[in-house]
Amino acid sequence: MLRLIFFFVIIALAALGITWMLEQQGSVSMDYAGYRIDTTPGILALAVLLFGFVVWLLISLFLKIIAIPALLGRAGQGRRNRRGLKLMEQAMLELDEGEPKKALGHAIKADKLLDRPSLSQPLVAKAAIAHGDHDKAIEVLEAMADNPQTRRAGLRGLLDEALEQGDDDTALKLARDVAAMGDKSRQLLAILFDLEVAHHHWNEALNVVGQQVNNKHLTADLANERRALILTEKARSLPSEDHIGRLQHLKEAHKMDPTHAGVVAEYALELARNKQQNKAFKVIKEAWAKNPHPDLLHAAQPELAGLTEKERNKKLDQIFAANPEHRETKIAEATRSMEEGNIQKARELVTKLLEDEPSQRVCMLMAAVEKESIAGEHVVRAWLAKALSLPRDNVWACSDCGQEHEHWQAVCDHCGEFATVMTGGRSGQVTEKTLSAPIMGLLGEGFATTQPNTIHPEGIDEPVAPEDYEETKATA
Ligand SMILES: [Zn+2]
Repeated sequence: MLRLIFFFVIIALAALGITWMLEQQGSVSMDYAGYRIDTTPGILALAVLLFGFVVWLLISLFLKIIAIPALLGRAGQGRRNRRGLKLMEQAMLELDEGEPKKALGHAIKADKLLDRPSLSQPLVAKAAIAHGDHDKAIEVLEAMADNPQTRRAGLRGLLDEALEQGDDDTALKLARDVAAMGDKSRQLLAILFDLEVAHHHWNEALNVVGQQVNNKHLTADLANERRALILTEKARSLPSEDHIGRLQHLKEAHKMDPTHAGVVAEYALELARNKQQNKAFKVIKEAWAKNPHPDLLHAAQPELAGLTEKERNKKLDQIFAANPEHRETKIAEATRSMEEGNIQKARELVTKLLEDEPSQRVCMLMAAVEKESIAGEHVVRAWLAKALSLPRDNVWACSDCGQEHEHWQAVCDHCGEFATVMTGGRSGQVTEKTLSAPIMGLLGEGFATTQPNTIHPEGIDEPVAPEDYEETKATA
């Protein structure tokens, strides 16, 4: 309404102005190229105004005309964007419907049509991966990694590709880059942790555990269990003469997890090497009470223990008393009796163990008992044969890939998994480590590699069962 009034006011003023100009007295004459124009000042002013108006119209028209290609272009990009978005939509549906090949084709077309690579490239990469076209996936992911807007997603995709191809070195570098860009997700930190430990980067692995705790991915207990294993490996990685460094890490590891047989065995061994026998036996005893394992007794070897036989036996008695009913305690007691030459006591203990459950170690012990008794060689061989037919019961093996390990270790050499090397029953050959060195020495060299079918003595097809033992002895 105001604009309308304003418009009428302008028109009225213009009419008044024109009328005023036309009413002006006087004359104007112009001579140009042989033409002569006589007119009044009002008409002249009107002619000048009219001329100005026409020029303005022409300029406007010209500007509109030169803008046409840009306008047409904008309209074209609009059409391409609409088509591109439609193709993206189609590709996403096809991905959901399990048709990655079609999805990839449509995603690539969409990427060409759209001018928004941060929108279209992730879809191309996803479709390429789903279709198994890894070359295309890597090409697109690398382009994404070069674009600051999509860099993190690009690196994350390349990380998955590196993991898929088993390229752990590249994967580690990428995982570190992605974490440095702020990705502290549960999944990424778990991947980074696995890669660091697989590379035996103990300090970096400890750092990741800290981040996992900060981001509430790990409970404090689980974090401490992990730290204990990592610190033990860190201690092992130091030179053997660096007793102070080793002890420092192992002490901390022991504090984090005082019952893990691998951790405690290593700590006790280092304590014994540093002539701290009392402390070594103390930590062994505490661990034995909760989780007895033959490796714990490595630190109590006579050559390391540095005690008289009587002192050492007293210490061992205290350890065994911490968990007297456990099978490991009984096996350890029988082993000690054998080592001391107390064959009668060893026989009693082993016989009870066989009644409970025959296992490879127990049958080996019985073979050693028989070897030291009056029984014939065929009885010894029969026990060895039975031993080979039974599962091994103190083997460190990877729960993930099955690889066996001489000692406990935090990371499986074979598959690189963390905390999967555990002790447990396994079938397989007897090794030098099945029983203590003196007993293995007693049984003689070479049996470990003997096949079960060749060890069977003539005339004894079945291994001697405990209940047949007296009969066998009588006929021997
Ligand atoms: Zn493994």
